[in-house]
Amino acid sequence: TKLTKEWLQNYVDDWVTFYRKHTKEGEVASYIPLLAQADKRHLGISITGINGMTIESGNVQIPFTIQSISKVFTFIIACMERGISYVLDRVDVEPTGAAFNSIMHLEMKQLKKPFNPFVNAGAITVTSLLNGKTSDEKLVPLFQLLENILGYRPRLNMDVFASEKESSMRNRAIGYYLVEIGSLESDLELTLETYFKQCSIEISLKDLARIGMILANDGEDPKTEKKIIPRQVARLAKALMLTCGMYNASGKFAAYVGIPAKSGVSGSIIAVSPPRARNEELPFLEGCGIGVYGPALDEQGNSIAGIRLLRHIAKQWDLSIF
Ligand code: GLU
Repeated sequence: TKLTKEWLQNYVDDWVTFYRKHTKEGEVASYIPLLAQADKRHLGISITGINGMTIESGNVQIPFTIQSISKVFTFIIACMERGISYVLDRVDVEPTGAAFNSIMHLEMKQLKKPFNPFVNAGAITVTSLLNGKTSDEKLVPLFQLLENILGYRPRLNMDVFASEKESSMRNRAIGYYLVEIGSLESDLELTLETYFKQCSIEISLKDLARIGMILANDGEDPKTEKKIIPRQVARLAKALMLTCGMYNASGKFAAYVGIPAKSGVSGSIIAVSPPRARNEELPFLEGCGIGVYGPALDEQGNSIAGIRLLRHIAKQWDLSIF
């Protein structure tokens, strides 16, 4: 049977309704006061196929800040500005198994560079590599990249930025440590300000799905065939998303869902399903990007219902890259 768009839409609607009940089990992030205002019952998903098909369901209109998802984007920009080897000389590509803002692993004896660009220590290091003398200047290429993909320039949520900055003791501690081991190439205050700003970029689920779709297509816009992200950089970003993208639940996510993804404490997740097969029934097997938003988080900091919804859909649609 050929699955129509309507069938797929109903299917996703049903499972969003089902998993919304699971939001009760999670908690919204509260260490940044403004994030604590999110409504924990929200759950939404947006899927955009390389072939242009889009399915959206649930709370898709709620804007959210991208938080840790920005780590993927600054990593991509740093690689585009400085070259992959320059960046990888300064930040490793190994999962930590520790919390994203862990300080403990920084003290490991042989550590010459942070474990990976998606834990805070690595992300702050990457942000320090960006060109520019002010935080706004440093973020120009990132906003340009987003504009190239989305067709508009996302806004910065200044309230979240302020809240982020005010509750930044741990990131400061990480920052000072990075200064001590010589990791940062920009002044610490400038680097942190840039980092808090990149976390406070506000976008929608549709945007996340579209960015994921571009990554699924190795950085190229399938319609215009324009190369937005160099293929090697897109591939590296996906490898890191698969191994380090879901905090200290990255192994489980790879095992049970099996696609590259990155989450943020706002409860958002960007997932990338690379082309697997031509499939008339399931057009998403030809590659798609998926955005999920559900601010109720599990203990690792991932959207509790979002992960379950993604796991269910990936399993049913056979999206695993393995
Ligand atoms: N702004 C957050 C922090 O570094 C980002 C955390 C996240 O999304 O994991 O504290």
